Amino acid sequence: MPDTTQSPPDSRLEIRIVPVTPLQQNCSLIWDTATKHAAFVDPGGEIDKLMGALDHFGLTLKKIWLTHGHMDHAGAAAELRERTGAPIEGPHKDDQFWLDQIEAAGAKYGIPDGRNVTPDRYLEDGDTLELEGVTFDVAHTPGHTPGHVVIYNAPAKIAFVGDVLFAGSIGRTDFPRGNHQQLIDSITGKLWPLGEDINFVPGHGPISTFGQERQTNPFVADALTGYGGAAKTDASSIDRKLAKRWT
Ligand SMILES: [Zn+2]
Ligand SMILES: [Zn+2]
Repeated sequence: MPDTTQSPPDSRLEIRIVPVTPLQQNCSLIWDTATKHAAFVDPGGEIDKLMGALDHFGLTLKKIWLTHGHMDHAGAAAELRERTGAPIEGPHKDDQFWLDQIEAAGAKYGIPDGRNVTPDRYLEDGDTLELEGVTFDVAHTPGHTPGHVVIYNAPAKIAFVGDVLFAGSIGRTDFPRGNHQQLIDSITGKLWPLGEDINFVPGHGPISTFGQERQTNPFVADALTGYGGAAKTDASSIDRKLAKRWT
């Protein structure tokens, strides 16, 4: 009889990334291996692919979580809710103006299947989300969009950061109500304190850790922000090759 009392509370959770839309947005599928109940984080599009992933793993969708209101993250949420009955939680209410223009933005980017959506629940800084008894914490992280949130589970050392932070880059801030300094403050004030060993799934591109980005990210390395009392150096000393800004 195996002793399961040492297992962390997250040990029953499985995570897969399902890239969706021509923007290759990292939709995450999280599920409990015992009950097969699941959550999608940022179902941006390609509903048939998402339904196929549920089917493939034999899962029942219970929650739909959104980090922010951009169409490549939220475009399939409305139809997914209709088909499965799962409630939509997030983002913060300040992103409703983005959720209201998913159809318009989709036409512009050539992603016509997205639909405008209103969540069942808006999220605030410090709120929690729950899947099968496992709690995820919510941080409000404006800058890329005003209502962006990050969803994380510190004991499992995993964070879903949407378009706040990427491996080697940060989110664009040239949209309406975007704000570069606010984004930097969100990253250093809300993400870095969670710990260097947190693995994060960004909205686009490869996964990384907060510690790695604090060393080498050409926008938010400690040597640039002075985080934690780090000595500041000039930006040219940081490798800028990886820098790519995502939608
Ligand atoms: Zn995106
Ligand atoms: Zn975005």
